[in-house]
Amino acid sequence: MPMPLIGISGSLDADGTRVFLLRAYMEAVQKAGGIPVLLNPSMHEDAAAQCLDRLDGLLLAGGGDVVPARYEEEPIPEIGEQTPLRDEFELRIITLALERKLPTLGICRGVQIMNVALGGTLYQDLPAQYPARSVLIDHRQPKPYEMPTHAVNVQTNSFLFQLVAQKELLVNSMHHQAIKQLAPGLCATAAAPDGVLEALELADHPFFVGVQWHPERLTDTASARLFEGFVKAAACKMNRQ
Ligand code: MN
Repeated sequence: MPMPLIGISGSLDADGTRVFLLRAYMEAVQKAGGIPVLLNPSMHEDAAAQCLDRLDGLLLAGGGDVVPARYEEEPIPEIGEQTPLRDEFELRIITLALERKLPTLGICRGVQIMNVALGGTLYQDLPAQYPARSVLIDHRQPKPYEMPTHAVNVQTNSFLFQLVAQKELLVNSMHHQAIKQLAPGLCATAAAPDGVLEALELADHPFFVGVQWHPERLTDTASARLFEGFVKAAACKMNRQ
């Protein structure tokens, strides 16, 4: 049986010499029945469109910070490493993926750039900017990253809930940024106990889901279901073509 092809947008070195991806993303896609392929962030516009035509799903992986100018802000001193080429590429392929109703899963930075792509904003640094700092939990856990460190509450009326079938998930957390203003059209579907948004999705789309945690590093049932749901949506897309 043909397996869906999942394009993954990975990381770039600060000096742009290397494109790379942590293997856990590929293994998680493969385990769920997909074929993972790493995308070239410097492919030109026509190539990107043709590439998206041939993909069955798009995975936006974790990484550094989105350039704040992308959501019309000046950087604050606490901002982390940025790679403008990656921002440009991912904003382009998110638009192409939306036009094609391509199943899209965003992880960590992935959920953040999904929100920015649709017109939302980010906290550039939670400890520096989160309004409810007194209740802010630690979202930057130490290793091992396979160990969950905080809960998230899942909205029971969400597609995410249909996927994971759990109201509360225990997740890992390796981020210092988070969604501030949710983009128009997106729904927040999970939050940490301090109120930090941890998942979003787009209604009227077969699969446009972003999570702030790293399911590719977790071994629980909910994480497996998330990847299985994503690859299944990609398989449906493939069969419609
Ligand atoms: Mn977190």
